Amino acid sequence: MQMAKHSYKLGAAQFCTFLACLATLSIITLACAKEAPKKPKGFTYIQQLAKTNGFGQIEVGVEAITLRSIWTTIAFTLDSRRVTMNGTTIWLNAPTRMVNGKWALTDIDADKTITPLLRPLDCLGHYGYKTIVLDPGHGGKDSGGVGPDTLLEKETALDIARKLRISLAGLGYKVHLTRETDISIELQDRCELARAWKADLFISIHCNSSSSPHANGIESFALSLPGYPSTNARGQKASDEVENPGNKNDLGNIVLGHEIQRSLIKTSGRVDRGLRRARFVVLKNAPCPAALVECGFLSNQEESKLLRDEAYLARISKALTYGIDNYMSKVRKARLIAADTP
Ligand SMILES: [Zn+2]
Repeated sequence: MQMAKHSYKLGAAQFCTFLACLATLSIITLACAKEAPKKPKGFTYIQQLAKTNGFGQIEVGVEAITLRSIWTTIAFTLDSRRVTMNGTTIWLNAPTRMVNGKWALTDIDADKTITPLLRPLDCLGHYGYKTIVLDPGHGGKDSGGVGPDTLLEKETALDIARKLRISLAGLGYKVHLTRETDISIELQDRCELARAWKADLFISIHCNSSSSPHANGIESFALSLPGYPSTNARGQKASDEVENPGNKNDLGNIVLGHEIQRSLIKTSGRVDRGLRRARFVVLKNAPCPAALVECGFLSNQEESKLLRDEAYLARISKALTYGIDNYMSKVRKARLIAADTP
């Protein structure tokens, strides 16, 4: 059967119509391209983050942007790593900035700092929730910081860990201490013990010291993310690029650190120095979500007095108990949701 032959030749009028259509199409395409909300490379717009996470109210100022929902208020400051979430300070890996005239933060801060804190149940479903390893800092010949009245960091850390063990065991957790007495123990060995005990969570307990007697307050640390300097570092080093074993728990680390810092500040009433990032050996090599806490400054007169006070140490231990239990409750809920998801 012979197919009918069609002519593809256009008359002059048809050709003009064709060109006009093509031009219109190009204009529409260009207009769409202009209006489409393009995501800048490496950055997330804060207003987009707010929209994705159901923040109904956004207050934009010259120096600050604040997102509000029924549960959460987050305040970002321009060109700053400091963020507050429901009043607790968190340090971003990189400062916020304006990109194409809009507030933005790095993708890594959106994905590995802010989002896990807003949606912890989406990211904790594969963690455990039973075994806790407490790591009293220093010990033996290593006294750690020394207070003005010869108060030793290693003793205060052990005292807090012992109190904390009692309260956590009372809630049904299995608790191990990396040291029970005043002995030296290598940093790497503390992580190996946690691995041998199949730890679900690791907390290293310390007290701070500074050359300035005025430095005071409480801070917690989660492991730094690859490619970014630690919060207290000046400038970037080659070792900042390395991904450490503890980075496989980045999402658990940030949620745990935030729960602990939030609880410590609420219960102690001390100055909030925030949840920071650092590459401490115990954080780099912990086999499970891990945080390091600095419970006050031995070098500060007021806080060294508090760190001698049994009532204050009991408050710190209670705060850590709440923070750890809040984290574990989130893991339990996340696991239930994960088990229900086909
Ligand atoms: Zn220490």
